[in-house]
Amino acid sequence: MKKTNPSLDSEQEGRRRFFRRLAGGMAVATATLKSARAEPSPATSDPTASETAEYGRGVGTDFYQYHGRDAFAYTGKDGALAVDGFEGKRWAMLIDLRKCVGCQACTAACKFENNIPEGSFRTWVPDVEIGTYPETRRAFLPRLCNHCERPSCIEVCPADATWQRRDGIVEIDYDKCWGCGSCVNACPYDARFINPVTKTADKCTFCSQRVDQGLLPACVETCIGGARQFGNLNDPDDPVTRQIKSEPVQVLKPDTGNQPRVFYIDLPDQLQNNLPGRPTLWSEMFSDAGFENPEDETAGQWKITGAKEADHG
Ligand code: SF4
Ligand code: SF4
Repeated sequence: MKKTNPSLDSEQEGRRRFFRRLAGGMAVATATLKSARAEPSPATSDPTASETAEYGRGVGTDFYQYHGRDAFAYTGKDGALAVDGFEGKRWAMLIDLRKCVGCQACTAACKFENNIPEGSFRTWVPDVEIGTYPETRRAFLPRLCNHCERPSCIEVCPADATWQRRDGIVEIDYDKCWGCGSCVNACPYDARFINPVTKTADKCTFCSQRVDQGLLPACVETCIGGARQFGNLNDPDDPVTRQIKSEPVQVLKPDTGNQPRVFYIDLPDQLQNNLPGRPTLWSEMFSDAGFENPEDETAGQWKITGAKEADHG
């Protein structure tokens, strides 16, 4: 059965989620209040509190102060953004592979920004040799969650812990996720993983904590080649939208029906449906350094089968 898409939640559904989460947050709030001297509630002194409280995540309410930020680990100025996103926006990423030099600056920036543990990655850039000898070349393929229009990772979640915001960003509620891994298996892009520290599902969020404050995702901000761009598909004047409409672009595994919103320019045929596996660059280094990689026996082996002549070999 299709689950309710929270990005389309009615106001009533928003209130329902608020009270459900509020119940969980009461223990935290109570403990905090017990250990501190009672202060006048910001909600009572904030003239906008009643209006924002209507939506359950208003800035200045007890909920937001004591539970919202910690629970979701987001930092949107408007508490509502962290859960519901921007109405009317449709965020997308465009990656111009002609400009990617495989420097991994994006990979590093993502790990720093999102505190991703060693050995795990929300984005990574496999490098692979494509073509047929002697017409071969090296290709780089930045990978991340595609924030699909039809995400197959959401419906399979038994905990209702993952949803799509109104602006298309697919999120995970780390308080609800119990780490069953259903979504990890359901994603045809290998974008999700189980975070070894939090023991929950994890993946790229387009750096929603930055986007909600008007900043670019860390990988886009850091990309030295300008290969990664971020924009709003609903805005016809957005440079990303204009480029996607005026140039040939590709997506990974177009036949999944997921309708990815990470677009590529100059994506080789050989890689479109035959994705380099888990992030193995570090695994290769690990092996080269004489360490075993207990996680993946196939680390470092790109499974390029049925390779055709590369488009741009
Ligand atoms: Fe979900 Fe995978 Fe699509 Fe991301 S790429 S939205 S994890 S199905
Ligand atoms: Fe490629 Fe830019 Fe990432 Fe460097 S930072 S690997 S150029 S996408």
